[in-house]
Amino acid sequence: MSKKTLIIGAGGVGNVVAFKCAMNSKTFGEITLASRTLSKCDAIAKNVKEKVGVEIKTAAVDADSIPELIVLFKELSPDIVINVALPYQDLTIMDACTACKIDYLDTANYEHPDTAKFEYKEQWARDDAFKKANIMGLLGSGFDPGVTNVFCAYAQKHYFDEIHTIDILDCNAGDHGYPFATNFNPEINLREVSANGRYWENGKWIETKPMEIMQVWDYPEIGKKDSYLLYHEEMESLVKHIKGLKRIRFFMTFGESYLTHMKCLENVGMLGIKEIEHKGMKIVPMEFLSTLLPDPASLGERTKGKTNIGIYAKGIKDGKERTIYIYQVSDHEKCYEEVLSQGVSYTTGVPAMIGAKLMLEGKWQGKGIFNMEEFDPDPFMEELMIQGLPWKIEER
Ligand code: NDP
Repeated sequence: MSKKTLIIGAGGVGNVVAFKCAMNSKTFGEITLASRTLSKCDAIAKNVKEKVGVEIKTAAVDADSIPELIVLFKELSPDIVINVALPYQDLTIMDACTACKIDYLDTANYEHPDTAKFEYKEQWARDDAFKKANIMGLLGSGFDPGVTNVFCAYAQKHYFDEIHTIDILDCNAGDHGYPFATNFNPEINLREVSANGRYWENGKWIETKPMEIMQVWDYPEIGKKDSYLLYHEEMESLVKHIKGLKRIRFFMTFGESYLTHMKCLENVGMLGIKEIEHKGMKIVPMEFLSTLLPDPASLGERTKGKTNIGIYAKGIKDGKERTIYIYQVSDHEKCYEEVLSQGVSYTTGVPAMIGAKLMLEGKWQGKGIFNMEEFDPDPFMEELMIQGLPWKIEER
């Protein structure tokens, strides 16, 4: 029987997911794109129809409201909900999925709007409810988290008896021509990079000041780049699932201009997430800044250059030390040519589609809540090769 797919969120990532599901419509069947603003869904549906020749339906929904979600789910009866709205909506969408017994997938872990804290606790706590409803939830099926978790599982399966250290390396060498803009939702992006850094060593989390640790990494097809240690959510699940792990860190590149702007904005209080009084009105500085900054979905046309995201893993195989580097390089302009989005939305949206495809095809199956590395990485790695994110492995 033909499947039904519901995508929630019509931003940069939602655009890519809509395109890629339409390109794989044999698996996804009848596709609906829903978001807060119907006109954004309609604009995407129009482009998909023109470029791919597939009709997708659209709907308006406030995903902060469980009753509204339930009404939409009952009307559409989707087989899967792909959540590419914001992390603030994760729990409401998960709870509506439980109520209607529908499989769930997202790309970013839950964040409370008032606290810049990323953790899986509240989503993992829904494991029993998902099991009872006989449904599956796949968390973090973007690039990082997402593909980086699958790279780790692939390294563990094929290259190591034990992995001792992992460095996740995220380089975006794209240039959009603006002095300052973010490649995905500004609020989520700035909350992530202005938070304290954190890495895991010998069973303990070690906290650093924001951008305190810098290391130069050499990225194939891009070159050497200053890379800063950040906390990133995939580490929380990887420390549970990768055998023998002694240390895991996450590095991301930032250009001079980005860092200078961020420092200034922070110094004047523009990154604040608590309400302040302004001329008799209450405003949240970060939300106001987010309104001023370019919409990430509009960067596609202007962005040139490449992204390179991968994992650098060291460990033991057959009693000998081994180091491997698995990475994927994307070109912003090629992404735009294919689906009218820049590379960061593309590298997030394609894995979201692949995760959902494996679930619908029954290749990744289970009841309850799962992180990416808990499944066989091979079918996912094969799909990456054919769906636009080819990867490479080097012995170092
Ligand atoms: P955007 O800000 O471009 O888009 C978010 C979309 O969600 C918008 O269309 C917005 O609707 C919609 N939305 C927000 N609130 C609601 C709501 N209450 N109800 C319904 N829809 C809502 O973000 P991106 O596309 O850049 O990012 C999407 C997700 O992908 C985020 O969760 C982000 O953290 C994640 N991500 C994950 C990455 C990974 O590698 N794992 C990397 C990059 C992003 P409207 O426009 O109408 O307000």
